[in-house]
Amino acid sequence: MIAKCTFCGKEQEDFMGVYLLKNDGSTNYYCGSKCHKSHLKLKRDRKRVSWTEAYRNMHKVKIKVKTQEKK
Ligand SMILES: [Zn+2]
Repeated sequence: MIAKCTFCGKEQEDFMGVYLLKNDGSTNYYCGSKCHKSHLKLKRDRKRVSWTEAYRNMHKVKIKVKTQEKK
């Protein structure tokens, strides 16, 4: 089974990472302690953390805007 990291969006075999069961019955999956700590302990915004999917998506948009401005 492949699980997707709640924080960085990376897809990985689920036995490699950390599963968290929340009180409302939903689960959070983290690909490693790096994402786990960043999300829960440091409460980082994933759009500001360079290794996440959210950051890369935002970055791509910025690059597109820049190249359009140059033209
Ligand atoms: Zn992750």
